[in-house]
Amino acid sequence: MDSAVTVNHVTQVYVTEERATLAVQGIDFAIARGEFVSLIGPSGCGKTTLLSIIAGLIRPTAGTVTVAGNPVNGPSTRVGYMLQQDYLFPWRTIEANACMGLEIAGLLTKEKKQGVLHLLEEMGLYSFKDYYPSQLSGGMRQRVALVRTLATEPELLLLDEPFSALDYQTKLQLEDLVVETLQAKKKTALLVTHDISEAIAMSDRIIVLDPNPGRMRQEFHIPEEIRTSVPFEARELPGFHALFRLIWQEFGGHEA
Ligand code: ADP
Ligand code: MG
Repeated sequence: MDSAVTVNHVTQVYVTEERATLAVQGIDFAIARGEFVSLIGPSGCGKTTLLSIIAGLIRPTAGTVTVAGNPVNGPSTRVGYMLQQDYLFPWRTIEANACMGLEIAGLLTKEKKQGVLHLLEEMGLYSFKDYYPSQLSGGMRQRVALVRTLATEPELLLLDEPFSALDYQTKLQLEDLVVETLQAKKKTALLVTHDISEAIAMSDRIIVLDPNPGRMRQEFHIPEEIRTSVPFEARELPGFHALFRLIWQEFGGHEA
């Protein structure tokens, strides 16, 4: 199968001095190349754990993960990770921050730097390249983080609530920008969000997780009409609210 990602019977137990926590249990799913999948579920159900395992930052207690057909044994430039916090270095300019991922991977050539400048331009940030993070808004800083993530040309993007610290309007703009950019570059994406609307508006498919331990509860395939619209317009479509209600009910009243 032409999968960008496969997660095979993944279980994670965290052991500390006080206790052992079964964070996720028996997770199985695959993501096709170019697909955009969202993972939703209540706080503590293991969403970040799963992303960390796919990113190769945690080795699962049991099970395996492959990215582009290769077993994941540690971090790799195949996978880009974007978080709620932008983790930009305050003492580095926007351009220098955007080049960080390439620099760390030892891949920063003149050509790659041109690529970064081009991405900054695409994100409307070129004229801010010599600024420092403190001079930019939250939404602009997340755009810089997106450039830094895309700069290493990952095949897969892992997005862990990247919009949740932003105000509503900025979040809507960034959703559109992310979807359009990832589609144009034919990237595969796995988004974690607690926002059901965001998941419907951005994804091709939604996986709902149950807590304690994190297990897969249900999967929703987003109808074509919503899938092919940019998130802002998807929210206006007739089928959107019915789907929202359906997924909302799946949570059985607990907060996502
Ligand atoms: P989510 O991202 O869905 O909120 P997490 O993956 O962060 O969930 O956490 C899943 C469970 O694992 C929670 O019960 C959490 O307390 C526990 N957990 C997460 N990270 C660790 C860790 N490093 N050590 C011990 N327990 C952890
Ligand atoms: Mg989390």
